[in-house]
Amino acid sequence: SKNMMDAGFTGEDAGVESSLRPKSLDKYIGQEKIKKSLKIYIEAAKERGDSLDHILFYGPPGLGKTTLAQIMAHEMGVNIKITSGPAIEKPGEMAAILNSLQEGDILFVDEIHRISRQVEEVLYPAMEDFAIDIMIGKGPTARSIRLDLPRFTLVGATTRAGMLSAPLRDRFGMIHRMEFYNEKELSQIIIQSARVLGIEVGEESAIEMARRSRGTPRLANRTLKRVRDYAQVRNNGIVSIDIVREALNLLEVDDMGLDHTDHEILKTMIEKFGGGPVGLDTLAAAIGEDAGTIEDVYEPYLIKCGFINRTPRGRMVTQPGYEQMGLKMPEDSDN
Ligand code: ADP
Repeated sequence: SKNMMDAGFTGEDAGVESSLRPKSLDKYIGQEKIKKSLKIYIEAAKERGDSLDHILFYGPPGLGKTTLAQIMAHEMGVNIKITSGPAIEKPGEMAAILNSLQEGDILFVDEIHRISRQVEEVLYPAMEDFAIDIMIGKGPTARSIRLDLPRFTLVGATTRAGMLSAPLRDRFGMIHRMEFYNEKELSQIIIQSARVLGIEVGEESAIEMARRSRGTPRLANRTLKRVRDYAQVRNNGIVSIDIVREALNLLEVDDMGLDHTDHEILKTMIEKFGGGPVGLDTLAAAIGEDAGTIEDVYEPYLIKCGFINRTPRGRMVTQPGYEQMGLKMPEDSDN
């Protein structure tokens, strides 16, 4: 369950995911505030014949950060290079990537909070002055020379803006927080994807799938594909609301879109820690899940639903959280 956001998107599904990516801002559903400012910003840069300023997107996985970066490249008519923080191990590798860019290109760095300090230092002059400093020689005769880079745009993505160092964060001209999608937006995405995949989906079924996809387009697309499989085997390929419910129950996804791990989190907090407060690391150890994954992937949605509260003393299950698990909150609880 650790890779819940990635599972199923390697191999067979990888090509499908990219075919489901909208290619223009107009086809990109939701995130209205971000779209509005990007539109202005793209138009202004185009008018001036300038490159876009560096931009940072943050928020839980699967909300459309990569897709937005690709759309920006498409709208600007430039190339995009996609890499990730952990993939770039040495400063020289980052220098080589930067050096391969052309005027106006977009460099997308996913999980940018995970780049090393040394690699980050290559980015400072690159972002600020479009230059990299390269050391020539060794010892007392060593000197650094400055190489000019084309004017490129760095688009960074992170699940946690708070994990970025201040000097790196300060070098982004815009910082945008991605929001969870509402039911209506997600059902539009599902209908759009169903069209691409050639699946017939009624509005009622789309809304039910949307409701159970945790506000996340990547999961909405995955839900759609699993429902399609189920319908194919059990119902001659016809998707109805009952088929949606059966397919999702089989996947242990509840009426709010919570999955097995979400239930484990709530159950453990209630049964082992009296509903909290409990610290993140303690909770992670108790359910055998990575603390970072709980914090980045699971918790944001549980908080958004109002099932968990973060307090200075730790995480606590709320009354709606108890109810979601079919339990009553103890009378004497101060949660
Ligand atoms: P992130 O980079 O934030 O993890 P992605 O950009 O990879 O997320 O998006 C995951 C999938 O969800 C993509 O394949 C895309 O098809 C779909 N998607 C994301 N945002 C939208 C959107 N606003 N409209 C339509 N589809 C979207």
